[in-house]
Amino acid sequence: MSRPACAIIDTAAFVANYRHAKTLAPHARALAVVKANAYGHGAVELALVLDSEADGFGVACTEEAVELREAGVTRPIVLLEGVFEPDELMLASQLQLAVGIHSHTQLNWLEHAQLPHPLRVWLKLDTGMHRLGFAAPEIAAVRQRLLASTNVAGLVLMSHFARADEPECRYTAHQLTLFRETVAAHGDPLSLANSAAVMAWPDSHCDWVRPGIMLYGSSPLAGDEGVSLRPVMRLQSRLIAIRELAAGEAIGYGGRYVCARPTRVGTVAIGYADGYPRHAPDGTPVVVDGQRTRLIGRVSMDMLTVDLSDLPNAGIGAPVELWGENLPANEIAAHCGTIAYELFTRITRRVQRRYA
Ligand SMILES: *Cc1c(COP(=O)(O)O)cnc(C)c1O
Repeated sequence: MSRPACAIIDTAAFVANYRHAKTLAPHARALAVVKANAYGHGAVELALVLDSEADGFGVACTEEAVELREAGVTRPIVLLEGVFEPDELMLASQLQLAVGIHSHTQLNWLEHAQLPHPLRVWLKLDTGMHRLGFAAPEIAAVRQRLLASTNVAGLVLMSHFARADEPECRYTAHQLTLFRETVAAHGDPLSLANSAAVMAWPDSHCDWVRPGIMLYGSSPLAGDEGVSLRPVMRLQSRLIAIRELAAGEAIGYGGRYVCARPTRVGTVAIGYADGYPRHAPDGTPVVVDGQRTRLIGRVSMDMLTVDLSDLPNAGIGAPVELWGENLPANEIAAHCGTIAYELFTRITRRVQRRYA
């Protein structure tokens, strides 16, 4: 038998979450964001499952788009950050990729390219994220240049929220107002909403929403259980050893956890080289044999240790869930001082993904 660490990917849950996003934004088209290998879940597999019904897919670079096209994905694909080198515009044209344009550099490349087919352009406006995009006063002129270019087949005006995951935050309302004021004069389709905005800011839905994390079953909203979302990934492994330690004995590297009482300790075949966070503290929940217990001791490269004192029947080979249906990734992320996005995208190649 091979090493038991694996990620079970529930493709039906992914489709259900996409449909849920469409229900929340019934008048918008929805770009399923599958960048970063579908947030670690496997972009080719998930895009193919959704290819018959998604309005389009969003990726971060041409490499990610090429992988999808080569696998047979036919729907529109948007390069959310556009191209990084002018040569890529040729590939984008051949593969019918829509390109983000966020800078004068990219605008010049596009104007000077010789392309077989014109490109759809997602023109990015900086409304307050302050990472990418044109400032509001520049938009009218940039838009005119794009419309005058024979390389442009159509425009979508887009922007990105910095704080949409904070439902009471006025900054999002401010970004939305600036966006609406800037684009009001133009008749182009509009796109603003990431998952948090799909869920919490219906006024921002416009023509295209861009859900990412919610498709994988994790709510981006603070304090939200995401009950209407279904987790897509179950990270699992098995117990491979069990021992009884006396009070005062320490476990693993650095002896971080010292047993306060006689303790039944289980060793699980998964570690930070699989993407489980090394900085997970003692007490981080782990589900063993369907029952919650806790991590004790520092996470090693290939293994971690759990407290089995209240699970006398859990034996070698017992299934272990690190996150999934019984243990929200958001809860593990909170223990580890990060977000589910990072947990998912850090799952390494060694972890076999199995599609169910
Ligand atoms: C990643 C990304 C999204 C999706 O964000 P989520 O928070 O995962 O929903 C949407 N739009 C852009 C431009 C992105 O880069």
